[in-house]
Amino acid sequence: MQVFGSKELLEDVINRDLCIGCGACVGRCPYFKSYKGKTAMLFECDLSEGRCFAHCPKVEVDLDSLSTTFFQKAYDGNPLGSYMEILGAKAGDKIAKAEFQNGGSVSALIALALETGLIDAAVLTDREGIIPTPRLVTNAQEVFECASSKYMAAPTLSALNNGIEQGFERMGVVATPCQATAVAKIRTNPVKRANFIDPVNLVIGLFCTWALDTRQMLSFLSDQPDMADDIRSADIRSMDIPPPPEEVMVIETGTKKTKIPLKEIRPMICESCQFCPDMTAEWSDISVGAFEGKPGWNTLVIRTKKGKNLVEEAVEKGYLQVEKIPEESIKHLAGAALNKKRNSFIKNVEKGLVNTGEKEGRSAIRLSDDVLKKITAQKENAV
Ligand SMILES: Cc1cc2nc3c(=O)[nH]c(=O)nc-3n(C[C@H](O)[C@H](O)[C@H](O)COP(=O)(O)OP(=O)(O)OC[C@H]3O[C@@H](n4cnc5c(N)ncnc54)[C@H](O)[C@@H]3O)c2cc1C
Repeated sequence: MQVFGSKELLEDVINRDLCIGCGACVGRCPYFKSYKGKTAMLFECDLSEGRCFAHCPKVEVDLDSLSTTFFQKAYDGNPLGSYMEILGAKAGDKIAKAEFQNGGSVSALIALALETGLIDAAVLTDREGIIPTPRLVTNAQEVFECASSKYMAAPTLSALNNGIEQGFERMGVVATPCQATAVAKIRTNPVKRANFIDPVNLVIGLFCTWALDTRQMLSFLSDQPDMADDIRSADIRSMDIPPPPEEVMVIETGTKKTKIPLKEIRPMICESCQFCPDMTAEWSDISVGAFEGKPGWNTLVIRTKKGKNLVEEAVEKGYLQVEKIPEESIKHLAGAALNKKRNSFIKNVEKGLVNTGEKEGRSAIRLSDDVLKKITAQKENAV
């Protein structure tokens, strides 16, 4: 892929409302800033090649090249990405109770990775009121403070850039699929810097069907008569989307639980999510989501040997409890992931954002023509 600069990033991503605000371009130069979920360029930069462009997950993601780098094989379009094993899991007895989103597996694994020195810091997402905020942490206590899902797109990766500036060289990152894609790009040194050090030693991906726009969500909640006071006092404890057929988002504050119908929430989904082909954060060592039908548990997709070793150590030390997951649940997950992949590929093709074969020019995704055809020809719920 040819690397361009911030002018092209503005044209291809920000001006088209495709920016997901992941923070990959924030904190490496004085020009890009993030404010309430939006990324803005403060001044024009005249560099013709920049990391802002090269690391963006919405600028040509070469799926074959990433797959070859991280999984030593061509991208085959498997709905769940490349993986070794899928398990049910939750935090084990050695982990103290905290505001976990589901089973607390993510927090337990990151806490262990910090304690054993597998990673020297972790890039997480905390909240200030309703607003998700990037946080670089170095101990288990801080990991547990960041537990629970903030359902808005977050500039998490500005904390990775901050960690690089501070000299951390083995960071762990907890990332949604778009963030994990940016991390994968960062790790391949696309601007070919001399003396490049891969700053990441572990990626824990989060399943994600979509994320909400922070500013729209703030404004929506401030207009809810029974929530406005809590939003003003920034007293949000948790957000959750229980599995179907409920069709609600539950927001818990210090004083009450409010259920908001998903049909009121959906218009606030970031436009960019419709173009994202990844539901299970494929560029990770381990991906984690809810275990549908088993509240308080996670589904764990173990993708790499490093991920497998960490899970085994976590089980041995009582940080994690695991169990087999029914084949039917895996099939259901793969069906949902295929729908996201297929629909997004179709959208990207419609907008002229896909490059295949010899086709050159700026795009959002590059993959083989065969895989593109194989995925887009599938019917809804074909798995
Ligand atoms: C925007 C979003 C959409 C999601 N959609 C789905 C879905 O469709 N299906 C599904 O099964 N699961 C989804 N998840 C994942 C799920 O909500 C849990 O994060 C996952 O099951 C892990 O649970 P846990 O109890 O192990 O996490 P915990 O131990 O509670 O840890 C949660 C971790 O998530 C990180 N985090 C929180 N918010 C964000 C954010 N906005 N961006 C990046 N990192 C964040 C925190 O740093 C923390 O480390 C989504 C998560 C997010 C953030």
